[in-house]
Parts: sequence; C-alpha cells; structure tokens
Amino acid sequence: MIDIKNYDNDNIFSKILNKTIPSKKIYEDEKVLAFEDINPQAPIHVLVIPKEKFCSLNDFCLNASNETISEFIRSIEKIAKILKLSNGYRIISNIGKEGGQEVPHLHFHILGGKQLGKIID
Ligand code: 5GP
Repeated sequence: MIDIKNYDNDNIFSKILNKTIPSKKIYEDEKVLAFEDINPQAPIHVLVIPKEKFCSLNDFCLNASNETISEFIRSIEKIAKILKLSNGYRIISNIGKEGGQEVPHLHFHILGGKQLGKIID
C-alpha cells in the first residue's frame, strides 16, 4: 500500500542517513540530505531525501506538516543552484510498485547536465 505509514528502518537511504552506508553528499541541512545516485542516469543525478521517515511522496502528502513539505520543496531550488543547473533539470519521484520505486524512503531524483529526452522512452 502506498498510503500507509509502515516505514522500513532497514532501507538503504535510512542507512545513508545514519551513516552506516557512505554517500557523496551534495547538500545537507537540519531536515534534508542530497547525495549522488550510485547509478547515474544523466551527467548529474542527485537524490534528495527528507531526514524524517516517509515511505514515498504519497505518504509525505498524507502525513507531513505543511512546513515540512514546503521546506523540502524549497530545498530543490537550493540544490539545483549548487549543482549549477541554470539551464534546467528534471525532478522524478517514483511511488510504489507500479511507479518503479525501489527504495522505500521518499526521494526526489534531480537529473540534468544534458538535454534530457522524453520522460518515458
Ligand atoms: P527508485 O527506483 O526507488 O526511485 O530510486 C532508487 C535510486 O537509488 C536508484 O536510482 C539507485 O541507483 C539509487 N541507489 C540505490 N542504492 C544506492 C546506494 O547505496 N547509494 C546511492 N547513492 N544510491 C543508491
């Protein structure tokens, strides 16, 4: 189910957050961490995650405070600036099984650094 808060504490991004697994950090503040994707699909491929535990964007919409949602969305612009993505970029958030979500901790993919193709091949 995509709308039930049954967070798996053993997921990879939880381990990145508690530093059991290393990551190449791009940005961090009190509530957000951004790091390079281990298997980049574009010259720039960064994952942005909230430090709070949410399974997916769906869970986030249902259960996060307005302040948390607002701060998370605003962090995207800050990270895009750090990555110098002034010519544009793409945000993807896969949700649940049919959405192709592999890691059950909310993440936004930031993709850029080249002219991106159609959203689905
Ligand atoms: P999803 O399919 O859940 O939207 O995306 C998960 C992403 O996490 C994939 O793009 C995958 O390459 C990335 N990923 C999986 N394991 C690791 C890891 O251990 N470290 C990092 N940096 N990225 C990972």
